[in-house]
Amino acid sequence: MSIWVLRGLRDGVVTTRWPARPDEYAESWRGPVRALGPVDSVDPDLCPTGAISAQGVDRGRCILCGRCVAERPDLFGWSRGVTGPAALTREQLIIPELPETDAAVAAARAGLAERTRALRRSVHVRHVDAGSDGSEEWEIQALLGPVYDLHRLGVFFTASPRHADVLLVTGAGARGMADPLRTTYEAMPDPRVVIAAGTDAVSGGLLARSEATTGGVITTVPVDIFLAGSPPSPFGILTALLIAVGKLAGGGRETR
Ligand code: SF4
Repeated sequence: MSIWVLRGLRDGVVTTRWPARPDEYAESWRGPVRALGPVDSVDPDLCPTGAISAQGVDRGRCILCGRCVAERPDLFGWSRGVTGPAALTREQLIIPELPETDAAVAAARAGLAERTRALRRSVHVRHVDAGSDGSEEWEIQALLGPVYDLHRLGVFFTASPRHADVLLVTGAGARGMADPLRTTYEAMPDPRVVIAAGTDAVSGGLLARSEATTGGVITTVPVDIFLAGSPPSPFGILTALLIAVGKLAGGGRETR
């Protein structure tokens, strides 16, 4: 008997039931940095990407380096769980404090489960690397393994933009990738949804001020969903895709 069969018999089903059921691993995942109180007195040089301002922590700029938590544990801490990393507007990623009550988390989970049930057809995703360091690609690849099993939700990757509903963009927006990215977007049929996946794609991250990048991908393609994290967790990417599914059901972006 093959070793893979023996391993399967030993381990049983490893696929997560999230979001239909809670997942302990997802809830224990280290989330983005949260402000524990007013941070307007913090030295702006503390953060290498300028994510900390008087308004709070901008998740879309935070690269999760941990410097603020290490140097000012009285003002900053890590959040837990996967709810909240993806938002429909860039401003929603700027948070003074996370409203992480049990009721809020349960409501978010129920909403995601409802979206999954509402899916009436498969959704196809075209991924474009616009200057990534490769970390996001590792997490995307994990979605195709037995633990996350993206296909159980009816979501598939496609090589052709002609067949894609969702454009999943990673990377800081390398200038050399601007034209290919735009061409891919224009080749997709309506309705289409664009996800900027990861802090680099949202804001450029550490490379935001580099001449080699456009400081995020929003100046190249219109972004519908902003997903923070450097890299975002597989659960975070799943969350963004499920938001995209909900958006597609509502009509998505019609531009022509
Ligand atoms: S973890 Fe690093 S990048 Fe994020 S807010 Fe703190 S210092 Fe800035």
